[in-house]
Amino acid sequence: MQFDALILKVASRCNLNCSYCFMYNLGDTTYKGQPKFMSYEIIDSILEKTRRYIQKYNKKEFSFIFHGGEPLLIDKEFYRTFVAKANNINKLLPNVIFKYDIQTNGVLIDEDWCALFRELNIYPSTSVDGTKEAHDMFRVDHRGNGSYDQVCRGVRLLKEQIGYADTVCVVNIKEDADTMYKSFKKMNVNSVNFLIPDYTHDNFPFDKNKTEMADWLIKLFDVWIQDSERYKIPIFIGLVNRLLGITEQTNNESAVLVIETNGEIEAIDSLKACGHGFTKSGINVLHNDFSDIKKSPLGKLYFEESTTKLCGQCLSCPIKDVCQGGRLVHRYKKENGFNNTSIYCNDLIKLIAHIQKTLMTIFPKLYSQKNIDCIKSEEIIQYLSKERRNSSTNSMFSIELEYFASS
Ligand code: SF4
Ligand code: SF4
Repeated sequence: MQFDALILKVASRCNLNCSYCFMYNLGDTTYKGQPKFMSYEIIDSILEKTRRYIQKYNKKEFSFIFHGGEPLLIDKEFYRTFVAKANNINKLLPNVIFKYDIQTNGVLIDEDWCALFRELNIYPSTSVDGTKEAHDMFRVDHRGNGSYDQVCRGVRLLKEQIGYADTVCVVNIKEDADTMYKSFKKMNVNSVNFLIPDYTHDNFPFDKNKTEMADWLIKLFDVWIQDSERYKIPIFIGLVNRLLGITEQTNNESAVLVIETNGEIEAIDSLKACGHGFTKSGINVLHNDFSDIKKSPLGKLYFEESTTKLCGQCLSCPIKDVCQGGRLVHRYKKENGFNNTSIYCNDLIKLIAHIQKTLMTIFPKLYSQKNIDCIKSEEIIQYLSKERRNSSTNSMFSIELEYFASS
């Protein structure tokens, strides 16, 4: 079990009520049983467990990601106390670098928050869905008002006062990809972490016979790769690195552990989209070590097996080493748990093939030297659908993957 960061749900409530939010609006209501804010007792326990974990695994760098809900709902003194306590632990681990990040919806960012981020070296990332139309379609307050104008003001302030602005954007295919790219350029951001929306097989809102997500991402990729002053887009950087053999990791989903506001240790929070209480493990940082999460079936699957314990089609897929089955949440179906390809399977094939084709044009020698075949998306899609029809690809892991079924 190797992770380099903790996502700390320091606040369990939010000043926004985004309609696609897996915390509040996709069927899991466990947040209602959480305390509003994380206590110092929980923090002390987290830091002590962090010390033990770092010593055991000899980590050189470790990140604390303040998350929610909305983490700026907490008093600034909370962050000063947290960093002071963490510094005390850091003194016992002098060769380890501690980093602090915060994921905010941006509404409350003001000069005082910017000053605090500078004081404590906390790196903020703001959630903004690109254009006003796309953003206000989902990211609304509790009265249904869009939050784009406030968030943009926050991003501008971060750029002015701390010199950079990292952002996270949930892909909205109703907005034109080129317009979206340019909108972030206008904001002068440093990076945009585009996220494919967290749907499962049970609530997928798009036409399964089309590849609208791929078409949108391909358009974005083409604009991005041609821009000599492009900002960072982690999803593309990850796939490019993977296709060039620079890294073995397609996504860094498994590199974080989530600690809920009351200290419960959980697998990644996007899995809340799979149903009420789905991520609950019964394991708490007050009584358990981080590694105890592996004792829960979901924790074991998420941390150790999510890229290897795949359904039959994924196991026989020619590009599984690049795709690795996509994200876990996208494979889920109530009827048979995780014994499925990603709901975005055809999109992933098309996107990966397109990126590889582009790389082959940019680095022709590299590909010819290594004698690598061109990925043909149509052929792979047809091959996989034939395999599915023949039912010849039952996975040796079917029983374990279907353990998570809920009907
Ligand atoms: S800002 Fe984040 S936590 Fe708050 S409702 Fe929106 S998606 Fe959920
Ligand atoms: S492309 Fe589809 S079949 Fe292949 S590994 Fe990804 S999700 Fe599985």
